[in-house]
Amino acid sequence: MVKENLAYVEEQIQKACDKVGRKREEVTLIAVSKTKPVALIDEAIDYGIQEFGENKVQEIMDKFDTVKAPVHWHMIGHLQRNKVKYIVDKVCLIHSVDSYRLAEMIDQEAEKKGVISNILLEVNIAKEDTKFGAMEEDVPGLVEQIAKLPHVRIKGLMTIAPFVENSEKNRVHFRNLRNLYVDIKNKNIDNVDMKILSMGMTNDYEIAIEEGATMIRVGTGIFGERNYTI
Ligand SMILES: *Cc1c(COP(=O)(O)O)cnc(C)c1O
Repeated sequence: MVKENLAYVEEQIQKACDKVGRKREEVTLIAVSKTKPVALIDEAIDYGIQEFGENKVQEIMDKFDTVKAPVHWHMIGHLQRNKVKYIVDKVCLIHSVDSYRLAEMIDQEAEKKGVISNILLEVNIAKEDTKFGAMEEDVPGLVEQIAKLPHVRIKGLMTIAPFVENSEKNRVHFRNLRNLYVDIKNKNIDNVDMKILSMGMTNDYEIAIEEGATMIRVGTGIFGERNYTI
């Protein structure tokens, strides 16, 4: 099943790229493996996937130890400050930084482990009450502040768009995030290396690619529906 799903997703990515004249290499597919067993991750690895997204610290730690192939783990879920220490040297990118306090903790723990932590700022671009993420108007100030932390490197922005029946409705949000990204990039702030726009999930990744996503996070579309009751 993973094989067929991946083939389908790959075809859609290519189509979206073709539609707007982008190159396939500009878009990194992250397979979101949360709640899914290592057997399915291994299957995805067999078909060439090396980037995996997880949203829970404990699950990253378990899978980090169990998956033997050299893959990259992405922390895409809300991160509590007291858990930063468990993953700061295990993940290649933390997508979900939305406060200075969290960035400061990542900086401290990265220093202890002797690493530089690559992060994205999560933006609540549609201003949903139920979502984490910084408000758009606060992001430029937050970037300036976090950029001063020596063991943290801002690589771009991330958003989780609203759940909508018609993915076209999210186009405006993706476009707004991209505009914010370009504005920040143009400031050429020291220690800020804006090159990643992490946006688009199973329901809307094609639209996100059309609007400039460089990373898409696809779970259900690769591994099937998640069952949270087991
Ligand atoms: C679960 C999750 C995804 C993947 O969602 P699907 O709809 O299954 O593709 C992407 N991003 C984040 C932050 C998630 O938590």
